[in-house]
Amino acid sequence: MAHVATPSRLREEFGITFSHQRFKLGYRHSDQELNLKKRMWRAARCTYLAAWKKELMEIRATSEGAYRHLIGIRPKYLTKSRFEFYPKCDALVNNMCESFNSAIVESREKSILTMLEYIRVYLMKRWAENRVLIEKYKDDILPRIKFKLQKEIDASRWWFPVAAKILKFEVIRGRDKFVVDLLKKECTCRKFQMTGLPCPHAASAINCAKDDIRKYVASCYTKASYVACYTP
Ligand SMILES: [Zn+2]
Repeated sequence: MAHVATPSRLREEFGITFSHQRFKLGYRHSDQELNLKKRMWRAARCTYLAAWKKELMEIRATSEGAYRHLIGIRPKYLTKSRFEFYPKCDALVNNMCESFNSAIVESREKSILTMLEYIRVYLMKRWAENRVLIEKYKDDILPRIKFKLQKEIDASRWWFPVAAKILKFEVIRGRDKFVVDLLKKECTCRKFQMTGLPCPHAASAINCAKDDIRKYVASCYTKASYVACYTP
């Protein structure tokens, strides 16, 4: 069936961006707007269901209308707590389209064939450049991923792991608790499975198990996968 971009479909597929704009317009110039926008983003960033529901209830306490607006959008377009695990991506907004758009902006006014030829050459050059760059890179895990991993490791120091059995931990911070299963590479916060990178709870458990955290990074983030992607 053809994909028809009706207003309701657009609202769903661009859930978080649409809601941000809607909140900006609907509650402009008020303290409520600021609070609701912050809460909307906080709710969207929740990686597990209980946190998402808690944030929604807080939004409802401030504005019934804002709450009704949010529950009118299918949650899988709006909150990380419903994201699937296969893509290994927790991005809420699609900046890749923006980047692609800016890369092809020069050619967009030309005829279709000229534009497609421009895109083909652009991609060919970019792939060739990336192949040269990765040859010089010495580590196995890609640089941006190493930076993200370090952030998770830094955040893990606030969590206290308690071994439940071999490679299974309860990780505690105050009244918050998560269960990490290192064998399955899972955490009940869902971030580990969603991103393919150990979350702070998993990083804390891995440290307790005296294991190498790099073993728990998904294979799609390795130099080998990058080379495979850019090899024609
Ligand atoms: Zn976790």
